[in-house]
Amino acid sequence: QAKALGRNTYSFFTKQMNTVIQRRLTIEEQMRGALQRNEFILYYQPQFDVKKNEIIGAEALLRWLNPVLGSVAPDEFIPIAEKTGVIISIGEFVIKESLSLLKRWKNVEQLNRNFSIAVNLSPSQFKDLSLFNFIKTSLSNANIEPQSLELEITEGVLMSGESSITDTLNDITNLGVILSMDDFGTGYSSLSYLRKYPFNVLKIDRGFINGITKNNEDYSLVEATIAMSHGLGLKVVAEGVETKEQLTILKELGCDLAQGYYFSKPIPEQDLIDFSIRFYS
Ligand code: C2E
Ligand code: MG
Ligand code: MG
Ligand code: MG
Repeated sequence: QAKALGRNTYSFFTKQMNTVIQRRLTIEEQMRGALQRNEFILYYQPQFDVKKNEIIGAEALLRWLNPVLGSVAPDEFIPIAEKTGVIISIGEFVIKESLSLLKRWKNVEQLNRNFSIAVNLSPSQFKDLSLFNFIKTSLSNANIEPQSLELEITEGVLMSGESSITDTLNDITNLGVILSMDDFGTGYSSLSYLRKYPFNVLKIDRGFINGITKNNEDYSLVEATIAMSHGLGLKVVAEGVETKEQLTILKELGCDLAQGYYFSKPIPEQDLIDFSIRFYS
């Protein structure tokens, strides 16, 4: 009896492990050449200035549609792209594509106003020493002011403490590119990083925004984070705003910017442009 159970348990685990490993391998395999096959596309989530009631930009979020796997979420494929190194070429695609959206945006007559694009960068993109030059060259080739490009990083980028990363971040911000701390509040030592690195923007993780209408703890944490950010001269973005009640509280607390399903989900480029034209007409 025990023996039989043991054997079953064993085969249960190997089956589960096989499925996980199999999926990972398939993702790795399918990711090779996916860029060339045009399987990656950027969606954009508009960002709002909650005081002026204006669209000030959008966050670029990568989508992957593969013939074998269907649509794969970035939370699943980005970590694998990091491990295999494919993230470098994917990341370059994301930057190039975002800059070309900025150009197309400027050519839409009804949208003749400032607009910026926020791009997410992973830790291993910072180990690539050509990152700074790539950004600088791409900006000047596209003839885009550096202030229109924002880079979002999480503390994962900073954790190694390598001095080359500090240098890269300083070079990038000296150029005029905006630097944001993403998912603030979810890590371990974000506070010391705010002192040490040249951040311009802080994005409060949606986990806290979700709680502001429900519990005092999240409300107080968001209130304090906004006050602290302003004290440090940073702008604050609330991520994952889903309801009018959340937005009302965020406005009361002096939050500068917001994004989330309440305004819009991430959408394809043409939808973003249509949405923005409608917003302003
Ligand atoms: P993130 O940068 O923190 O992006 C925010 C995530 O929250 C996005 O998920 C977005 O679709 C989702 N979101 C936005 N508003 C709401 C809301 O109101 N409610 C809820 N429940 N969710 C909301 P997504 O697109 O699946 O991306 C997940 C993560 O994958 C991103 O987190 C980012 O870390 C990473 N990622 C996405 N695109 C890229 C990329 O181009 N490069 C890199 N390196 N990472 C990326
Ligand atoms: Mg982000
Ligand atoms: Mg985030
Ligand atoms: Mg995130």
